Amino acid sequence: MAFRATFAQIIEILQATPVNFESSQLQRSADGLTTDTRELNSGSVFLALRGESFDGHRFIGQAMEKGAIATIVDTPTETDIPQLQVPDTLAAYQALGRWWRQQFQIPIIAITGSVGKTTTKELIASVLGTAGHVLKTEANYNNEIGVPKTLLRLTPEHDYAVIEMGMRGRGEIAELAQIAQPDIAVITNVGTAHIGRLGSREAIAEAKCELFAEMPDSSLAILNADLPLLMSTAKQVWQGDLISYGLTAGDLQGHLIDAQTIELEGESYPLPLEGEHNALNYLAAVAIARHLKLDLAPLKQGITVNLPGGRAQKINLPNDVVLLDETYNAGLESMTAALKLLANTPGKRHIAVLGPMKELGDHAEALHREIGELVKTLNLDQLLILDRGFEGNALAQGAQSIPTQQFDSHDALIDYLEKAILKPEGQPVSGDRILFKASNSVGLNRVVSGLKNRL
Ligand code: ATP
Repeated sequence: MAFRATFAQIIEILQATPVNFESSQLQRSADGLTTDTRELNSGSVFLALRGESFDGHRFIGQAMEKGAIATIVDTPTETDIPQLQVPDTLAAYQALGRWWRQQFQIPIIAITGSVGKTTTKELIASVLGTAGHVLKTEANYNNEIGVPKTLLRLTPEHDYAVIEMGMRGRGEIAELAQIAQPDIAVITNVGTAHIGRLGSREAIAEAKCELFAEMPDSSLAILNADLPLLMSTAKQVWQGDLISYGLTAGDLQGHLIDAQTIELEGESYPLPLEGEHNALNYLAAVAIARHLKLDLAPLKQGITVNLPGGRAQKINLPNDVVLLDETYNAGLESMTAALKLLANTPGKRHIAVLGPMKELGDHAEALHREIGELVKTLNLDQLLILDRGFEGNALAQGAQSIPTQQFDSHDALIDYLEKAILKPEGQPVSGDRILFKASNSVGLNRVVSGLKNRL
């Protein structure tokens, strides 16, 4: 059973004005709170959110038909439905999420960072899952609606909650931290995502560190020690307990033995995901396990983690050809991480299929050139670019002597990959490692699925 409260409690928490409520109804309990009629269960309360393109107030009739027993609204409707009126329904949703969270004395873990949030959340959830029941953020519910939505799903069966927090601008992480009030907060990374909006990496670091603003000193910060900017920014605002982790520094410093194993304080742990960036994400999860004094034996045996599509996905094709599907998204740090993973994956030819990284503002050209230069430094065998615009040109310029081709359509790229790379003159090659990465809006996933269908 998730959210449950009497109407008297809800009225007090929200300072709401009851409309069409008889005083005898005030001690009745609401079982569940939802903003979406498709998820509504009988006996729950429907809260009408307003957005730019939708208005939940239009769905009140539907909610009542599905068994809602009251609504939370900013403008009462002319019916006899029991309604609680508040000035701002989103603020009410967040206040109820925060109140419900306060009913649970379990470790609440928050994660933010420019990249690695979802991966680290899944790794932490898997690690904690070896010791108890875990509530975790589903899909991409990591914003001002998603965080309370996740907290409202807490039940007495849960032993831990792992909450992902995303941001696009200043003040957003502070707001999410006020709602979730984490006991443990992880910052994975400070990069260049949203630099177009925030201006500098320093400003991004400060925005991430808002996470600590709402935590009492008794809470714990967990930080990536391989990023000096993150460490120094955090220390300006956080004087409480801190555990740092890293591959080059940190309280918990890991040493990669090979692509599948990391050594920590003399003991080996199998890595659930390949790549240095994922080893770092895993260290954050191990730091939490150690802090909570969990039995580390299941970790030493190896845990598994399932990531949502387009992240660290290895597709094994016949003839020992491996596609690395990283098409979910791309920014400077994740491109760098994925290209290094490609270069370190044993195989014959190493080919990068890249598209533009979006939302980089004035920094876009320089950062695309930087990625091109990395392709050259890593000495990859070939660079294929799905873009003939300035971003694609900057990638190509940076890569210099590396054989490079630019394409202006998904189909042309699929054709080339099939006919020139994987089946030249109709004969399949073997041993290729091919990375696919671009911002989500580029739709590079269509190239991966199109290619799979042809092979
Ligand atoms: P988004 O905010 O776009 O949802 P996210 O922060 O949740 O992203 P993930 O989905 O975990 O990040 O990872 C996205 C990509 O970033 C991965 O596919 C991988 O290429 C890269 N990545 C993951 N962890 C790290 C890390 N610690 N450092 C650098 N790159 C990383």
